Amino acid sequence: MSTLDPLQALAARAEDLRARLSHANYQYYILDQPEIADGEYDRLLRELSEIEAAHPEMVTADSPTQRVGASPQSDFQPHTHRQPMLSLGNAFNDEELRGFDEKVKRHLGLAEDADVAYVAELKIDGLAISLTYERGVFQKGATRGDGFVGEDITANLRTVSSLPLRLRPPHPEFVEVRGEVYLDHAEFARINAEREVSGEAVFANPRNAAAGSLRQLDTAITAKRKLSAFLYALGESSSRPAASQRELLDALKGWGLRVNPQATVCPNIASVIAFVAEWTGKKASLRYDIDGIVVKVNDTGQQQDLGAVARTPRWAIAYKFPAQQGRTTVLEIIAQVGRTGAITPVALVAAVTLPPNSVVQRATLHNQQEIDRKDVRVGDTVLIQKAGDVIPEIVQVVLESRPEGTSPYKLPDTCPACGTVLVRPEGEAITRCPNSAACPGQTVQRVAHFVSRRAMDIQWLGEKHVAQLIESGLIKDAGDLFALTKEQLLPLERMGDKLADNIVAAIAASKAPPLSRLVYALGIRLIGEHSSEILARQFGSLEKLQAATTEELNAVFEIGLTTAESIVAYFGQSETTELLGKLANAGVRPVADQYAPQSETFAGKSFVFTGSLQTMTRDQAEGIVKKLGGRAASSVSKQTGYVVAGESAGSKLEKAKTLGVTVLTEEEFAALAEGVGEGAGESG
Ligand code: NAD
Repeated sequence: MSTLDPLQALAARAEDLRARLSHANYQYYILDQPEIADGEYDRLLRELSEIEAAHPEMVTADSPTQRVGASPQSDFQPHTHRQPMLSLGNAFNDEELRGFDEKVKRHLGLAEDADVAYVAELKIDGLAISLTYERGVFQKGATRGDGFVGEDITANLRTVSSLPLRLRPPHPEFVEVRGEVYLDHAEFARINAEREVSGEAVFANPRNAAAGSLRQLDTAITAKRKLSAFLYALGESSSRPAASQRELLDALKGWGLRVNPQATVCPNIASVIAFVAEWTGKKASLRYDIDGIVVKVNDTGQQQDLGAVARTPRWAIAYKFPAQQGRTTVLEIIAQVGRTGAITPVALVAAVTLPPNSVVQRATLHNQQEIDRKDVRVGDTVLIQKAGDVIPEIVQVVLESRPEGTSPYKLPDTCPACGTVLVRPEGEAITRCPNSAACPGQTVQRVAHFVSRRAMDIQWLGEKHVAQLIESGLIKDAGDLFALTKEQLLPLERMGDKLADNIVAAIAASKAPPLSRLVYALGIRLIGEHSSEILARQFGSLEKLQAATTEELNAVFEIGLTTAESIVAYFGQSETTELLGKLANAGVRPVADQYAPQSETFAGKSFVFTGSLQTMTRDQAEGIVKKLGGRAASSVSKQTGYVVAGESAGSKLEKAKTLGVTVLTEEEFAALAEGVGEGAGESG
């Protein structure tokens, strides 16, 4: 093959790795469009580090091992960090964590069997930010960029409700704090659903969505995406408030910054390893993605003694969870019809077990654009991964293993379920079957959604039986389910006497669902579980929701214009009228939702805000009230629960005093809200 000597070959490999990693950095940090999986990136970076460690003469100044992230794009003003924002070294198993602990002890001159105390924190999979506060007031916010120069995204960060615009005293005169901005799963799903409808390409994962949302030149777009943040570190500060990482986290919290509640002091590395094991099992229960555990020496003095090398501090390390990734082959690509008519290409793959133990046989390919981008073909060997709760997806094709004679995949021209010619409006990513009223594929999905566990929760009735019921003409929509008899069910395939009884009983038992579940079950475009709860809470009955205008819906906190229009359009369809008529005739009567016990301070109480608020916007404050079960009102009456008076409050405050309504300062309101929200919310 080549005539290179081994050393030259190694240098060429290092060169190749540097080029691939630099390209990956650009895709990931600048475009928010990674082309390879994180695990693959980590593997390449490690290979390069190993070559460089063995041959230091091969290290170049611009090597991805020597720098953090990527230099910022020119769309934003550059922001030079007063202290560089470093990255972290990585550990991929317990052994490497022990190795880290040994190195720490060596550097500190401690005995091998001594214990070093660490703080173990969840590694939030978002993007790093720096916030500067002067005399407690938020001045500037920036991305990490290449660690030295980031992007000034102050205006965008102002829209993130979990970031206070003013710190609570006592705080340092000047302080720079650091943390992570992220999107929780529900918001990620909402944004992607909205993008699907508007024909935009969906985000691959919450991290990309968060980065894409934060690095928006149009601040209004950022504001619509409900980004959250956790803070965990200090940059430059006029005073050092803490003797340990634990104390620092407490200080940050005291200043009103959001700190992740799971951070735990571990007396030694064994206890860190136990924490890692615990979260490896529990991470799926969180409402946001974490990609590992960050381990930090707790004692600030020890941290200073340890210092930093190149791009990473010596006193901290990031343990990365193993990627839930595997390699398999594509057996077939099918086009699936969703309940809104969206056609999704799905790859059927040879069964593969992804760690820890989920067997995968199908993976979504999202849409034609994604197929074109990844060029996935039948017969290809592919890397497949599962991120969080998300459906498995194909990360990339292993081109070296492509067999001869494959051809690119194109979605069919007609609907696989009803034969109608498919449409894909100019510039949109999603191909759709326009035959929403009569396409049996869409109907099956709509009914399957209606009966699903998180909707009407009609047990025993699976998608296969729903499909048979529709094919045989026994039902036309979910409303017909309630008239089904045991005798009608018995002839279906794989149906028995007992199962038929169970199904009939389960249908009958579902006639008094909580309103939010019924709303969700209807499968209105863009209305997920969270929006259904909001709508149920706000309107109280299906009739009122049905009668609501676009303006009224749009006025509801968290319901945007597109969603409002989608609701109005849904209730305007004749099929909807027919379905709701059948449900009513069958005796389906939704009941009021049982909300989680809320503070008596908020439930059912109305709050009026007056004057200007300092640490949050009016919208944010009203959002908190609604979230905690209260109502935001605009005028003061005897019925008003509380008036929250900001700076220069005027006549409303006077009126509250006259009527004897309780008046709160902004701080008192925030304290009340925190008292209730505490522990209730991981996801902000
Ligand atoms: P990192 O992910 O290895 O870890 C450091 C980062 O963790 C910090 O900068 C901070 O943003 C974050 N973090 C989250 N919670 C934290 C906490 N509690 N305390 C401290 N830090 C916390 O390093 P990185 O430099 O941000 O990113 C490199 C990683 O990004 C790679 O390992 C890879 O997984 C991914 N990446 C992927 C591609 C790709 O093409 N797929 C390209 C570049 C980078």
